[in-house]
Amino acid sequence: MTLITANLQAVRGRIVRAAQAAGRDPASVALLAVSKTWPAGAVREAAAAGQRAFGENYVQEGADKAAALAALGLEWHFIGPLQSNKTRPVANAFDWVHSIDRLKIAERLSAQRDVHLPPLNVCIQVNVSGEDSKSGVAPGQARELARAVAVLPRLRLRGLMCIPEPTADEALLRSRFAALRTLKEALAADGLALDTLSMGMSHDLEAAIAEGATIVRVGTAIFGTRAAAGPVAAV
Ligand SMILES: *Cc1c(COP(=O)(O)O)cnc(C)c1O
Repeated sequence: MTLITANLQAVRGRIVRAAQAAGRDPASVALLAVSKTWPAGAVREAAAAGQRAFGENYVQEGADKAAALAALGLEWHFIGPLQSNKTRPVANAFDWVHSIDRLKIAERLSAQRDVHLPPLNVCIQVNVSGEDSKSGVAPGQARELARAVAVLPRLRLRGLMCIPEPTADEALLRSRFAALRTLKEALAADGLALDTLSMGMSHDLEAAIAEGATIVRVGTAIFGTRAAAGPVAAV
């Protein structure tokens, strides 16, 4: 068994245990394998182990990998910050975008999505930690943005995404994830049918699943530590 296969099995085990501990169906939590900085060969290996959905942060790198592996029929998610002059390749090379934080980006993605492709699935990224430096819309502005995105013809608004600030404070972390869940519930009460909470990474997926995550985005625990000198295998 390869290291990536073993790591994938371990992560799937963590997801199952966290879901069960929360009284949730493990099948209600999807695993997004974050392959940023890793070569197409690593994605191919994970795909051979049954992984279908992959997350990328950088436009050109992600589009190139998706094109190189098109024959595998994988699902590609863009999860990084997106500038308005880079929307076109994202609109057409990806199946999902998790990082919508302003209307202009969503409008461009909708206008540029190829008419022959199904609508692009999108999530609104919410800045649940209130840090100035983090991307994401402020929680108080999420409803207005969600309403505007929901009516764009070539997008399908699926839900919300967050990246809490790094913290060893478990209670604080849980409160960040809970805030995103509460916001989704408020939008649902407002008439927006959302089915996705994209939250939780290698180090905090259990807390995210306990608070209702439906997609966890996991890189390091599957592929290893991203190093400037090149990929280094993880345990
Ligand atoms: C890199 C990244 C991840 C994966 O993080 P790990 O800690 O490697 O699991 C998840 N989400 C986003 C937005 C990322 O940029």
